Amino acid sequence: MDDLIKRAAEDLAAAKNVAALTGAGISVESGIPPFRGKGGIWEKFDPMEFAHIDAFMRDPAKVWNVLISEMKEIVDRAKPNDAHKGLAKLEEWGILKTVITQNVDGLHQMAGNTDVIEFHGTFAWQKCMDCDKRCETSKVEMTQIPPRCDCGGILRPECIFFGEMIPQLHLVRSQKVASQCDIMLVVGTSAVVQPASFMPVISKQSGAKVIEINPEKTPLTGTVSNYLIKGKAGHVMKRIIKEVGLLRDL
Ligand code: NAD
Ligand code: ZN
Repeated sequence: MDDLIKRAAEDLAAAKNVAALTGAGISVESGIPPFRGKGGIWEKFDPMEFAHIDAFMRDPAKVWNVLISEMKEIVDRAKPNDAHKGLAKLEEWGILKTVITQNVDGLHQMAGNTDVIEFHGTFAWQKCMDCDKRCETSKVEMTQIPPRCDCGGILRPECIFFGEMIPQLHLVRSQKVASQCDIMLVVGTSAVVQPASFMPVISKQSGAKVIEINPEKTPLTGTVSNYLIKGKAGHVMKRIIKEVGLLRDL
């Protein structure tokens, strides 16, 4: 692993336009469980019963009571970890330009990244289904379920449910970012959810290096990514940032 950390640091220090694609794994060390794998949310909930738009439309109170209230509790408490902070540092150094995230937890912005494409929307905000008025999720009163807007409309998170479309604008911009970067850093994603997992493929086809950080192999490993640094995102990023810092001081 030490060799790969050094290699990643050298690659990043020499790059001019790095993009990152992040997934649920980058927030695991912030206490937010991923969807798949050990301890994943889908071990507890059936996605089709709770995370599909049809399920929400049929019975918003049920989805609020179970999935949304639990996510709200987790996300309200979560703070960026060393991986989010590392990506913010790379932006501060002018190395990283854009983060494309599948996450809805808002932790990249909290860490300081300014150009974050939230591929699947955000859980940090709720929107009234009748008048479109927005309010911060952390300020939503849970006394009434489902919570309602002043106008009486039901609130829904601004993230997309299964069965909903990725906002076209996010998709088009992500494809552009993926095709123009010189390194695509893929952190904590199982790379099985389309079309997000296609972004590293676009980068690779456009001539970029693809670097993965994940404790497990993914479908990108050995096919699309140039190398995988096997480990937890926070731990690995902290070490990479230290090395990039040393190279910058030379
Ligand atoms: P996923 O749940 O499918 O996969 C998680 C990946 O993270 C796995 O490859 C796993 O090996 C890896 N991982 C686990 N612990 C890690 C760690 N400490 N460091 C680095 N990697 C680690 O997640 P996904 O690929 O993002 O795709 C599924 C969907 O999950 C996305 O659409 C996203 O919207 C949603 N989601 C988001 C959050 C969040 O906002 N934090 C949480 C759960 C799910
Ligand atoms: Zn309203």
